[in-house]
Amino acid sequence: MGFGVPCCWLLGWEGMSLGKILLFYKFTPIADPQAMRLWQRDLCELLGLTGRILISEHGINGTLGGDMEDCKRYVRKFREYPGFKDTEFKWSAGGADDFPKLSVKVRDEIVAFGAPQELRVDEHGVVGGGVHLKPEEVNQLVADRGDDVVFFDGRNAMEAQIGKFKNAVVPDVRTTHDFIRELESGKYDWMKDRPVVSYCTGGIRCEILSALMKNRGFTEVYQIDGGIVRYGEKYGNHGLWEGSLYVFDKRMHMEFGLGTKDPGFVQLGHCKCGKPTNKFEHCVNEDNCRDLVLMCEDCYANPATRHCGREECAEVAAQVAAVAG
Ligand SMILES: [Zn+2]
Ligand SMILES: [Zn+2]
Repeated sequence: MGFGVPCCWLLGWEGMSLGKILLFYKFTPIADPQAMRLWQRDLCELLGLTGRILISEHGINGTLGGDMEDCKRYVRKFREYPGFKDTEFKWSAGGADDFPKLSVKVRDEIVAFGAPQELRVDEHGVVGGGVHLKPEEVNQLVADRGDDVVFFDGRNAMEAQIGKFKNAVVPDVRTTHDFIRELESGKYDWMKDRPVVSYCTGGIRCEILSALMKNRGFTEVYQIDGGIVRYGEKYGNHGLWEGSLYVFDKRMHMEFGLGTKDPGFVQLGHCKCGKPTNKFEHCVNEDNCRDLVLMCEDCYANPATRHCGREECAEVAAQVAAVAG
């Protein structure tokens, strides 16, 4: 605080009940997903947690916000279920206010790859997935095998515009549904005999992706424990990661270490005008163009330039600007 004043004086008593956001997933057989849904819904309601939980017969995936004490109680209760015993929770700043409501749903898949029949899980997790590497093991693999190692981005292509592993292959994917088509296209057959490190934000997508890759003839597939988040916590801007990390909440992106001011930071994101930016915005032609695009502050501030760059969107922007002007 800098003034020698205890922080609770400045924050008031409200500030004392710190909120938290919990992120977690677990792949384990769930015999009765509907019963699991009722238990989870009741538990969250009892503790006043909000957010989103998806449940399938392969496991559970959740993001919840609430008071610190309630989150701790949730974790304790959650781990009492035998299949969830050793689930890891990621804690971050936030609270119940970050989510408008509680949603607990049963789905065919907890991550929508469009392959529910292909995915197999047992009490140890996904069957036939890639080998898990800790962040330091990722660096060791590259130290040992050099340029033979291929990083394969397991996210939507747009996320890689602001950050990715050095020299990573970024498949042409708008949603996770596109991965199977991409993997079977032949475009990536050259890496089937190479060491391939799949990676995604927190690791959940690669649990499935790495298994789909192995099923399609990729022989040496790895995944990163805890995903980019854990790698970035360990190495910041001084490892093999370059740029910022896209995140699915209102922040839209996060930085590691000192962020953009870090001498090791590599700026990948650029606005259509050429200026560096890590900020995604909606195109002004929102009715017809749903794309999130990188936009600098200046281009966003002016309706005439608040578009994605496509001709039809530029025309709409010009019309909007004319009306406004
Ligand atoms: Zn711009
Ligand atoms: Zn557009």
